[in-house]
Amino acid sequence: MNIEEFDVLIVGAGLSGLRAGLELSKKWNAAVISKVFPVRSHSGAAQGGINAALGNLEEGKEDTPKSHAFDTVKGSDYLADQDVVMFMCEEAPKIVIEFESMGAPFSRLESGLIAQRPFGGAGFPRTCYAGDRTGHALLHTLNEQSVRNGLTFFDEYFLVDLFIAEGKIAGLIALDIAKGELVSFRSPYIILATGGFGRIFKYSTNAVINTGDGVGAAFRAGVPMQDVEFVQFHPTTLYGTNILITEGARGEGGYLFNSKSERFMKNTAPKAMELAPRDIVARAIETEVIEGRGFEDAYVHLDLTHLGAERIKERLPGIREISIYFAGVDPIEQPILVQPGQHYSMGGIGTKFNGDYGETDLSGLYTIGECSCLSVHGANRLGGNSLLETAVFGRYLGRTLLKKGLPKKSSSSDIKAAEEKTIDKIEKLFKKWDQNSGKKPVDVRNEMGETLNRYVGVYRQKDDLEKANNVLKRLQKDFLSVHVSTEDRRFNYGLLRNLELRSMIDIAEATALSSLWRKESRGAHFRTDYPIRNDDEYLVHTMVYRNKDGLKIKTKPVKLGIFAVKERKY
Ligand SMILES: Cc1cc2nc3c(=O)[nH]c(=O)nc-3n(C[C@H](O)[C@H](O)[C@H](O)COP(=O)(O)OP(=O)(O)OC[C@H]3O[C@@H](n4cnc5c(N)ncnc54)[C@H](O)[C@@H]3O)c2cc1C
Repeated sequence: MNIEEFDVLIVGAGLSGLRAGLELSKKWNAAVISKVFPVRSHSGAAQGGINAALGNLEEGKEDTPKSHAFDTVKGSDYLADQDVVMFMCEEAPKIVIEFESMGAPFSRLESGLIAQRPFGGAGFPRTCYAGDRTGHALLHTLNEQSVRNGLTFFDEYFLVDLFIAEGKIAGLIALDIAKGELVSFRSPYIILATGGFGRIFKYSTNAVINTGDGVGAAFRAGVPMQDVEFVQFHPTTLYGTNILITEGARGEGGYLFNSKSERFMKNTAPKAMELAPRDIVARAIETEVIEGRGFEDAYVHLDLTHLGAERIKERLPGIREISIYFAGVDPIEQPILVQPGQHYSMGGIGTKFNGDYGETDLSGLYTIGECSCLSVHGANRLGGNSLLETAVFGRYLGRTLLKKGLPKKSSSSDIKAAEEKTIDKIEKLFKKWDQNSGKKPVDVRNEMGETLNRYVGVYRQKDDLEKANNVLKRLQKDFLSVHVSTEDRRFNYGLLRNLELRSMIDIAEATALSSLWRKESRGAHFRTDYPIRNDDEYLVHTMVYRNKDGLKIKTKPVKLGIFAVKERKY
């Protein structure tokens, strides 16, 4: 078996992984493994932009990192840890300028300054953008810089499991997708940057690769999942395919209409209207549909026609293309049909409760980006804050580890023993999957996704959540008997889908359980049987662990700060 050794190994070549890798490769022998070619990482799909209090627009002159932090904490329904939020918002202007100096092609104002647009829940227009293809622009910029800096890449390598020696992380086993061979990567530091896991839901804006492999691997190694009940449903996904229609469309002035031609947001957020935070707009749309004021019992209209052809072509060209190609609607002439869809995972790999953002309970294992829960978004993320999080904490973690220095290595015999034990387990699992004749993995996956959509969606309640928990427990059992249809491991996508499903089922189960446990409504988690936020009992983070009897929930306090916990009004 092939063995590779690095000072630090990053799993994931999206914005967070690349930004950490860029920093670390300045001094250390650093490598990134990714299951897809780096620029196919899901960061490239980000449309609307990245937040920073630059104050480039006249109406944004008064903006500050503190106002940005306030909007983020309020948007999070006060569940975000305020120290992390403050840090991110203070770093934001520096990180955007850094991107600019690396050559990121931001859209510009007449003055030449970086253009900014209003976004949901933001007090000022602070979202910097590159048309409606911001993620694509930033990902290519970082990829170029990382290649230039000599970061080592292992493209199309799939993280299977982590291994631990002497109580510390010692490495991971990956599958070389092309050769179908297992490879051991030994490293005293591993950073998980594997992105979101929206695909546990059947209908999502996420790419098919967003399956939570890093969250699952950390969980199997004993690291808890944090706040996974907080699932962001984006209000405007294209009816039928659930492709994202960026919040930038409303930021540019788009209106939402029900079938009675009413701008219904006036009923829930009379001041912010269409630019209320996503959880509020998603619920408003769902309510219109449930109460019979939607179209075909399924969607509402997002109208951009009044913006004019020139503005739509300049600022929202990708949205126009998506609408034409996937729905046959040209937004210059007709409204777009939209409905809420799973979009973002606020929860993720649990982190420690100290200032070393990104450190997990397992010594040497770190996490950044959407797979992590630092917790900067609390119960609801504001649009434009996720791209920001990836770059801020990618750079921060790189610098923190360089400052810390390399740890003392575990003994090589212990590493070898841990490595062999893990490989042995994986080989046995692969063999079992070859020999099984039980359920088809695709059936398990479909039932899991449909169950979450149906019972753990925008509106939740006890009976539904109990149903979801029961179905998922059964699916865990069904998964034990799934099979892979061919034993040839080269480019074996059946095998990869099984490996993904292994993690997805754990995350789905933890999501359903913590949603049942949280008997209140906060941010994106809305319980019709407990519609009020309950700070006395639930102003806490949930931490889901697995012990021999099944899943268990513990809690962790929220780090409050200068912003007092208040009612959210928009
Ligand atoms: C359609 C869409 C639009 C969005 N628009 C915006 C926006 O405008 N502004 C904003 O702030 N946020 C936006 N977001 C959210 C934001 O894009 C993501 O949260 C962010 O880009 C995630 O970056 P990441 O580095 O954490 O992960 P990703 O970019 O998803 O990268 C994950 C990496 O992990 C690798 N990986 C995963 N599993 C394995 C494995 N088993 N083995 C090896 N490698 C693995 C993948 O290959 C990939 O390289 C959007 C999200 C979506 C879905």
